[in-house]
Amino acid sequence: MNTADLDELRALLGAPGVLHEAADTARYGSDERRLYHGRAAVVLRPASTHELARAVGWCHARRIAMVPHGGNTGYCGGATPDESGTQAVISLERMRRVRSVEKEAFAMTVDAGMTLAAVQAAAADAGLLFPLSMGSEGTAQIGGALSTNAGGVAVLRYGTARDLVLGLEVVLPDGRVWDGLRCLRKDNTGYDLRQCFIGAEGTLGIITAAVLKLFPAQAQCETAWLGVRDLAAACRVLSALRRRLGDCMSSFEYLSAASLGHVLAHVPDVQAPPVAADAHLLVEFTAGEGDALRGDVERALLALVEADDVTDVVIAQHEKQRRSFWRLRESVPVAEKALGGSIKHDVSVRIDRLPLLAQRASAAVLAHVPTARLSIYGHVGDGNLHFNVLAPADVAPDTFKAAHGEALSALVHGVAHELDGSFSAEHGVGKLKRELLVASEGPVAIALMQALKHAFDPLGLMNPGKVLAH
Ligand SMILES: Cc1cc2nc3c(=O)[nH]c(=O)nc-3n(C[C@H](O)[C@H](O)[C@H](O)COP(=O)(O)OP(=O)(O)OC[C@H]3O[C@@H](n4cnc5c(N)ncnc54)[C@H](O)[C@@H]3O)c2cc1C
Repeated sequence: MNTADLDELRALLGAPGVLHEAADTARYGSDERRLYHGRAAVVLRPASTHELARAVGWCHARRIAMVPHGGNTGYCGGATPDESGTQAVISLERMRRVRSVEKEAFAMTVDAGMTLAAVQAAAADAGLLFPLSMGSEGTAQIGGALSTNAGGVAVLRYGTARDLVLGLEVVLPDGRVWDGLRCLRKDNTGYDLRQCFIGAEGTLGIITAAVLKLFPAQAQCETAWLGVRDLAAACRVLSALRRRLGDCMSSFEYLSAASLGHVLAHVPDVQAPPVAADAHLLVEFTAGEGDALRGDVERALLALVEADDVTDVVIAQHEKQRRSFWRLRESVPVAEKALGGSIKHDVSVRIDRLPLLAQRASAAVLAHVPTARLSIYGHVGDGNLHFNVLAPADVAPDTFKAAHGEALSALVHGVAHELDGSFSAEHGVGKLKRELLVASEGPVAIALMQALKHAFDPLGLMNPGKVLAH
């Protein structure tokens, strides 16, 4: 990028909107897991949709490839530029406004650069709930969450990011703005363009704002830590609780004893759960005012203890204890990072096939490397397991990943495929899983995806090499 280019960009975006020095752009050049390392020609930080559209139009006119960049917490390298030093990173970090809250319509319109935590707080200020919640919510942005169709811990009741959007505003790869910021619960007018951009990982356009669905705030919340014998028992518990308490159940999270052990050993200031067991569940129930939630939850859990499906149970007595339960669950990725990282798999299958998935994948991995350490946890209520493999205690994690990563991932993904499951339940495809997409989706689906990409981005300038190789 020469001086004249930078002057033009500064004229479009102002000085704070353009980063060029290596020291300033370095942090945009690698991903959360440090799997990819690239170099941006420039980092553009527009402060409004108008500025962002001008920046994209400028890049388009010069055939400069663009990489949308949210909170950079994604697990598949989607927000990282390549090594050529020719791509422009477009960061949404200066677009953080609540545009409006429509209380009576249970909706709010926000800039795409707001973090999930800030969106949740703004909804709470209005006495309402925005339910998308996950361990990265303090950093992940709503635009990134929509672009990856993020899941999180309340999918069971509220669905994934896709289910939480009424409207979008998107800057297209040539700089035009599509204004789809409608606040309609019903709208059957032609193709649903909004859904094309959700889960597209920034390959079709840049989401600049969204109209989000809000829900009634939940006055009652009961959070329980349950001990169970294994994943099969966990699935029985899920089914029984759904039948008995229905939509009151908002989260149903599973931790193997090994995953919990990693947290207790490697994350500072966490408190061991009050239950000793072979496998653990963190289950949350919420309801509005007036219902007798506590009594219903107690009776349902007691019945499960009597049926011997639950070995022990503790219901959080206060908010501090509830938070300490959640901290254990949300610290699993932190613990794995402290252990040198893991070979991660984010797989999903039909819920009743989860025990089979864990059993077969564990057997396959341990047959290949008998001393590998497994960390199995996740959103069991959604049929989604994080099936992660850590290096044996006496092997350097990087050496282990380089030697066995590919083979072990092929085994785990092979088992998910055999069970008619998905190799990417919620983390997307990015750069990391492009080949898996081709292998699992088949030629017809890939041809349709390529046609869609070409229709939105005929010059292939928007996040090239992500999701689809070309
Ligand atoms: C501790 C931890 C816990 C996590 N837990 C979960 C979980 O429970 N569930 C889950 O689904 N994920 C989880 N993740 C993964 C990650 O947080 C999500 O994928 C998140 O949605 C990414 O948001 P982001 O803003 O960081 O996006 P980024 O990482 O910046 O980008 C992700 C992709 O979206 C594109 N993108 C970003 N912003 C835009 C935009 N405005 N317009 C168009 N494209 C854009 C990027 O180009 C990239 O392809 C977790 C990650 C961590 C580190």
